[in-house]
Amino acid sequence: MADNFNLREELARCVKCGACMAVCPIYRQTGREELVARGKLALVERRQREKEEPAAGNLSAFYRQAIDHCLLCHACEDNCSKNVQITAIIKESRREITAARGLHPVKKALFGLLRGRFGGLRTLTRIGSWLQLLAWKRLPAGSGLRRRLPLPLIDDQTVIPAIPRRNLDDRLRRRPAAAAADRPAVFFYPGCTARYLTPELGVQTVAVLEKLGYRVVVPREWTCCGAVVEAAGDRQTAVELQQRNLRVLAAAADRGPATVVTVCATCGHTLKGYPLPAGCQVMDISEFLYAHRQPLEKLLAGKTLDRRLTYHDPCHLRRGQKITAEPRWLLRLLAGDNFVELRHPERCCGSGGSFGVTHKALSRQILGEKIADLRQSAAAVIASGCPGCLIQLNEGIQMEKLAVAAVHPVTLLAELLAAPPAGETAAAVPTSGEEKKTPAKSRRAEKTSHKRKKG
Ligand code: SF4
Ligand code: SF4
Repeated sequence: MADNFNLREELARCVKCGACMAVCPIYRQTGREELVARGKLALVERRQREKEEPAAGNLSAFYRQAIDHCLLCHACEDNCSKNVQITAIIKESRREITAARGLHPVKKALFGLLRGRFGGLRTLTRIGSWLQLLAWKRLPAGSGLRRRLPLPLIDDQTVIPAIPRRNLDDRLRRRPAAAAADRPAVFFYPGCTARYLTPELGVQTVAVLEKLGYRVVVPREWTCCGAVVEAAGDRQTAVELQQRNLRVLAAAADRGPATVVTVCATCGHTLKGYPLPAGCQVMDISEFLYAHRQPLEKLLAGKTLDRRLTYHDPCHLRRGQKITAEPRWLLRLLAGDNFVELRHPERCCGSGGSFGVTHKALSRQILGEKIADLRQSAAAVIASGCPGCLIQLNEGIQMEKLAVAAVHPVTLLAELLAAPPAGETAAAVPTSGEEKKTPAKSRRAEKTSHKRKKG
C-alpha cells in the first residue's frame, strides 16, 4: 500500500456519483448496492464513525459480506473520476476483519505453507502430485482434473491443473545450461503457479529469454508475492513474504542493475508495488518482449499461428500495470490477421484469486459472460498473461465443452520459435501447461529404431 494512503481522506473523496456501478462485475450480476464500490465505501465510512463511539459494535455479517464480495479487479477505480483508492480501502477493511475474527482455517493452513511451514508448497505439491488421482480424475487431452470424491468448496464442474511430478526448480536443474556465463543476466520470477502447477510455462519463458541472448537466473529463494494473503487481510504474512523477496532483489541489485521478468499479471502487479531496491526494475514478459521487438521479429522469421486467436486482459495487467498494447502487439506478431478482439476483453473473468473458490456460483456467473464472448469470437485459442485467469478460463471452456485452448502468450511464442521455418509445418498449440510426455508408443518406436540402427 502507498505510504501516503489515508483511509479517512480516501473515503471523503468519494462523491457518490455511482460511476463505479457501470463497471463492477459483481454489481452487474447481483444488482446489490452494498456490493458495489459506492455502497462498500458508505459502509466503511459508517464503520469508521462507529469506531469513535465508546461502545462500537461488532463487525456485522452484512458488513463482512459486503467487504468480502470483491474481486479486487480495479474496474471501479479505473472508472472513478475522483481517483479514490477503492481496492486499498477494501484491503484495509479486510485487515480489520481478519484481525478481529481470524482467518478461515483453510486459508490459515495455506498461508502457513506459503510461509514455509510443514515443508511449504514444495512438499505439498510433491505429495499432491503422487496422491492427486485418488481424489481427482484426468480430463481428456491433459486439460486438467475434476474431482472424483466429494471435497469441501469443490464441485463437480471445478477444473484444476494436474500437479506435475517435477516442479520448475526440478525441471531447470535437469535442463542443460544453454547460456554462457558472460551473457547479460535477467531474473525470472515464476510465481507459485508457474513454479508448481504449470512449470512448462516457466521452462518456455526461460527458453524464450535465452533465445533473446540472456542468461536467465531463477533464484530458488523466491517466495509467494503475497497478493493472495494481502487480499485475505493477512498483513503480517504479506509483509513477511515481501521481505523475503526483497532480500533476493537486494542481492540481485547489489551486482548491478537488475531486471526481473514476470509471467503472472498478479505477481507483476504486486512486485511493482514493493519498495524496490535502487537499480531494480520489474517487467511483465510482454513489456520485456516489446522492448526486444526487433530481435524477436527476426527470430520468428515470418512464422505465424494458423488458428484464430483472441485475448483476455488480466485485471492486474490492464488496470494494475496499465499494460494493454504490448500483449496485443505480441499476439498480432504471432497470429497476424488471425488475431481477433473479444467483445469485452477488459472484463474480469471472475477468478479474483480465492474468490473463484469461496464464491463459486457468482464467480461462474461472471465467467459465463466471458465464455459467451469467447464463443462469439469463434477463436480456437484464447491467450492471457495470468495463470490464474487461464485456470478460470479453462474451467469455463471445459464446462461448455468448447474446442478452445487457453494459453499464456509465452507458450504460443515458445511453440512458434521451436517450430520449423515458415511454410514447412504449422506450430502445435498445447492444451494445458502440463509437462509433455513422450507417448509410450512413440518411445517404443524410438527404442526399436535405435536397436535397428545399432544392429
Ligand atoms: S465512482 Fe468513485 S466517486 Fe463515484 S461513487 Fe464510485 S467510488 Fe465514489
Ligand atoms: S474491485 Fe472490481 S469487484 Fe471490487 S468493487 Fe471494484 S469493480 Fe467491483
